[in-house]
Amino acid sequence: MDSSYNQPVDATKVPRFAGISTFMRLPAVDSAAGLDIALAGIPWDGGTTNRAGARHGPRSMRDQSTLMRRVHHVSKIEPFSVVNIADVGDIGVNPIDLHDALTRIKTGVADILQHGALPLIAGGDHLTTLPVLRAVAKRRPVALIHFDAHSDTNDTYFGNNPFTHGTPFRRAIEEGLINPHRTVQIGIRGSIYAADEHDWAQQQGVRIIYMEEFVRRGAAEVMREAHKIVAGAPAYVSFDIDCIDPSMAPGTGTPELGGFTTREAQDLVRRLAGLDIIGADVVEVAPPFDLAGITALAGATIMYELLCVIAAEISKRNQR
Ligand code: MN
Ligand code: MN
Repeated sequence: MDSSYNQPVDATKVPRFAGISTFMRLPAVDSAAGLDIALAGIPWDGGTTNRAGARHGPRSMRDQSTLMRRVHHVSKIEPFSVVNIADVGDIGVNPIDLHDALTRIKTGVADILQHGALPLIAGGDHLTTLPVLRAVAKRRPVALIHFDAHSDTNDTYFGNNPFTHGTPFRRAIEEGLINPHRTVQIGIRGSIYAADEHDWAQQQGVRIIYMEEFVRRGAAEVMREAHKIVAGAPAYVSFDIDCIDPSMAPGTGTPELGGFTTREAQDLVRRLAGLDIIGADVVEVAPPFDLAGITALAGATIMYELLCVIAAEISKRNQR
C-alpha cells in the first residue's frame, strides 16, 4: 500500500451522515492528476424521452456512496489501498443545449484521460455515454459490455432527432467508437416499438442477451460468453440502472418489469474481473422517482463493485 493514496473519511471517526458528501467519502479534487481512477458525475438528462431527473443522479449517488466500506467482502479487495482514487467533481454540462452538453462532456472526460486516470462515471441519462465514448475511444473502437433493459440502438426520435438516450449505441457504432462484434448487451427486455427493432444492432454483430436467456443460462455462463466476446480487447462497461427490476430500482426514467435483482446485478459485475476495463459508468438513476434512496443506493453500490474490479486489475498491472 502506498500511504500517499487518498483514503475515505473513516466512518468510525466521523459518522456517515456528517460532512460534505463525495463519492466513497474520498477527497474532492480539481483535476485527475496523480489518480489511477477518477470518480466523476455527469448531471445531465437532456437526452431523456420519458421521465426526466437523471441530472440529479450524481448528487444522490454521492450521498448513498457514504455507505461503502473499505474492503469488498467477497474478493477482499481494498480499492483505496491499491490505487489512487478521488472525486473529481461533476463534468460541466449545459442543461439547455444538447450539442454544447455533448461537447463539454467529451472535453471533461478527455481531460481525465489526459492525466492517465480511468474514468468511473455517475450519470446522467444514457446519452451521456456517447460523448464519454467519443473521448475514451478516440483512437480506436473499444469493446462494450452493456447492462440494460434496452438496447439503446434506435435510429431517431421526434422527427429525425438522432440524439436521445434511446440511440447512443447506434451512434457509437456508426462513429466507430465501439466494435459491434465486441459488444454484448445483457438484460434486454420489455415491449418494443417494432418487431424488428433490434435487427439493426444484431446485423452489425452486437450480441443481445435477453433477460429470458439470462434466466435460462445463469450469470456464470452468460459472463463467460461476455468474456469471449470481448476477447481481451480494451472494454468499456456501461450499466443502466434500469436493468435492475423496478421493485428494487424504481427511480429511473424508463422502468421495465422483470429485471435483475440487485444481488444478481452485483454478481454480474463481479464476474467482469480479469477484463481490461478502460472506463465505466452507472447511468439513469433519477432521484425524483426514487423511494427512500434505494435506486441511488443500488447505483452507488454498483459503482463500488465496478471500482473494486477495476482497482484489482490496475494494481495487478502495476505489479508486473
Ligand atoms: Mn440505457
Ligand atoms: Mn434502459
